[in-house]
Amino acid sequence: MSAFDTLMAFERETQALSRVAGRLSWDQETVMPRGAGAQRAEESGAMEAVLHARRTDPRVAEWLAAAQAPDEAGAAQMRLIRRSHDRSVKVPADLATALARLTSRSQGIWAAARAADDFAAFAPTLAEVVRLKREEAAALAGQGDLYDAMIDDYEPGATAAGLAAIFDEMRPRLVALRDRALGADGVDPVRGDFDMEKQLRLSRDLAALFGYDFERGRIDLAVHPFSSGSGEDVRITTRVAEDDPFNCLYSTIHEVGHACYEQGIDAAYSLTPVGQGVSMGVHESQSRIYENQLGRSRAFCHYLYGRMRETFGDIGVDNEDEFYRVVNRMHNGYIRTEADEVQYNLHIMLRFDMERALIAGDLSVADLEAAWNERFKADFGHAVDRPANGVLQDVHWSVGLFGYFPTYSLGNVYAGCLYAALRRDLPELDAQLARGDLSAATGWLRDKVQRQGGLYTPQETISRACGAAPSAGPLLDYLEQKFGVLYS
Ligand code: ZN
Repeated sequence: MSAFDTLMAFERETQALSRVAGRLSWDQETVMPRGAGAQRAEESGAMEAVLHARRTDPRVAEWLAAAQAPDEAGAAQMRLIRRSHDRSVKVPADLATALARLTSRSQGIWAAARAADDFAAFAPTLAEVVRLKREEAAALAGQGDLYDAMIDDYEPGATAAGLAAIFDEMRPRLVALRDRALGADGVDPVRGDFDMEKQLRLSRDLAALFGYDFERGRIDLAVHPFSSGSGEDVRITTRVAEDDPFNCLYSTIHEVGHACYEQGIDAAYSLTPVGQGVSMGVHESQSRIYENQLGRSRAFCHYLYGRMRETFGDIGVDNEDEFYRVVNRMHNGYIRTEADEVQYNLHIMLRFDMERALIAGDLSVADLEAAWNERFKADFGHAVDRPANGVLQDVHWSVGLFGYFPTYSLGNVYAGCLYAALRRDLPELDAQLARGDLSAATGWLRDKVQRQGGLYTPQETISRACGAAPSAGPLLDYLEQKFGVLYS
């Protein structure tokens, strides 16, 4: 066997094991017995130790040095394996294992603190997570910036300064749009009792409509909707609120976007580094365009309004135009995941600045809740009423995901670019969406973005699909057009 083939055979087994580790996380958030938390932390730590040993195996460096990539895909595989190896050898094994154990345990502590509305119950654990993540980032960054090293895990090539520049460009136009919309006549939310089983049945239908392959996937319930896995086993979770059907339906469509990305990758890359989404930003571009640009479009609302009346009977919304406004309702809320397309990005900018300050050491965990509340009031104009609606609302920090939040807004930016290109290429799009036919749109995304997996860098992936380098302009134009009409 050539050095390249030996390297790839070894990598394939590492990838398989890492999918097993991913399945443990899925299990923990869906069906794991509540009393199994401590044991699961041990199990996750043990898996991480095995994976870390494989990623840092000195033979990987030898094979990389000796291997010749047979083609473009082979070169991409080697680039990604080298990246993972270089990263892993910088992080001491005991630190990697300690982090896996701690973040597995701290998730439960966060969930309990959120349920009790008690930030103080979570703060000591979060401080420990921050301490270990900073240690890890210091090992990765060398002389470089700690937070940049963290971002690089989720969005290779992106930096805090680059993201801040994009956000600075977005903020004034988003704030102006938000202020104009909130100053106009408000839209009432949908009211009523929406049977859980009916919601789940409709959300499964929508998942299939958007191209989710149930032969290689499944939908379960979880507190935090997420997508997990790749290749032949890509699972999603959703949640149900019986007074708000859009929570379940749009969470599902969102996660289906993530899952379709993984399912859409060329099967030839299965169980290899190229065989998974290239970055969290590109991942989020898929979930956002499925959920927002397509799922919340005026044309698709025509179809969905009919399906909802068919499913639930009278839903208390008089007509399609009203339905479109309800689906895109803008209001003074607290929760990122429930925010409209405009304010969502303001929620991200708040978290970006908070976590940047935490990691830089400019903000301590002890001061985080007060800092959050002050910033929220300044950005959104109303005060946080309780920690579960404020600093405790997101799972991310409890599991050590620092540098992850900005990729959500970057995903929106990418989705804006992709949507502009998609509309140019598909002149019949609105007619297709209106009859619930997503095949042309999702087919375009599969061909232009999903199929490639990690073949190109995130930036290249978007540039190749759109024919231009990504920028915030198309997203901002789209939002101003859409919400300008909605709140004229
Ligand atoms: Zn997402």
